[in-house]
Amino acid sequence: MNGLRLEIDLDKIAANASELATRTAAHGISITGVTKAMLGLPELASVLYDSGIPVVGDSRIENIERMRSDGIDGPMLLLRSPAPSQVDRVIRSGATSANTETHVLTLLADSARAAGRVHDVMLMVELGDLREGVLPGDLNETVEHVLALPQLRLTGIGTNLACRSGVAPSVDNMGQLCFLADMVETRFGIEITTVSGGNSANISWAFDATDTGRINDLRIGEAILLGRDPLDRQPIAGLHIDAITLLAEVIESKCKPTKPWGRLGENAFGKTETTPDRGYVWQTILAAGRNDTEPEDMHPPAGVDVLAASSDHLITETTHQMQPGDEICFVPGYAALLRSMTSPFVTKRLLLGE
Ligand SMILES: *Cc1c(COP(=O)(O)O)cnc(C)c1O
Repeated sequence: MNGLRLEIDLDKIAANASELATRTAAHGISITGVTKAMLGLPELASVLYDSGIPVVGDSRIENIERMRSDGIDGPMLLLRSPAPSQVDRVIRSGATSANTETHVLTLLADSARAAGRVHDVMLMVELGDLREGVLPGDLNETVEHVLALPQLRLTGIGTNLACRSGVAPSVDNMGQLCFLADMVETRFGIEITTVSGGNSANISWAFDATDTGRINDLRIGEAILLGRDPLDRQPIAGLHIDAITLLAEVIESKCKPTKPWGRLGENAFGKTETTPDRGYVWQTILAAGRNDTEPEDMHPPAGVDVLAASSDHLITETTHQMQPGDEICFVPGYAALLRSMTSPFVTKRLLLGE
């Protein structure tokens, strides 16, 4: 008996990674494989490099340090702008960092000088999703700032879409990023090696575009791990959509009415229940809850419906009575995966070469 656990099939993840790497390569694009949803799992980083992915990216320096201390010494990208309190750690990690603030760039340069290092920088440009990025009109000024700091080397520019507002990658915004790369090169007489067009939400753009222009990198996490396009959460053809599963254990299964009785106040989470009366059903409770996952973002197998969840009880309806100790296997969405990965109550079981 194993209890509540994520099963992470690294063979399926490897197959997804190499399939995507091959298909984007046909469009002149290589992949930065993103490990943040797996908290920088070193085994995942190894699998990504072995699958033809040249760079590993993560948003947190803690995760990059975890991989480094486990002996992962390949090229890495810190996806989130370094927090000032962490710049020394960023420099020490040897990762390229994504940046948007001149103040942070100055701190990075100071820290690199003290460490006797040169630090590679990617500048992130805001193209409409309204998360991170230098506004296009301010890009020249920011580039000038970087070029004036000899400890920094400007190796790339990038943008991030479809995260905060769901703005989709398009001919327009991708064209604008390419234009900005050309503009910076012409104006400053430098070469921008990497033009990073976005994340998993860029995959259908990359596959469908007749011309991907200068975009030569995409930073991909979700599509490799879950096999889905985040723009519509549809499966991407040729990828596994069950590389990661969450298994939970039954602790009660009884035929109960669907309608609660007694005077109704708020439930534990401040909601007032309005359950329609559907007669009696097999109500099966699993030893899992909001402490462990995002119940609304779990895909149950056929014949199982998630009805409700509290901190520690996941209440489902099943077609028949189950026994305590039986298991139900869910496929987590991205939000559920994040929550489960960070829950200390969820065991992480890696499957490799099985
Ligand atoms: C998380 C993140 C990615 C990867 O996003 P996915 O949707 O998992 O592919 C790419 N770039 C940045 C800046 C990120 O923060």
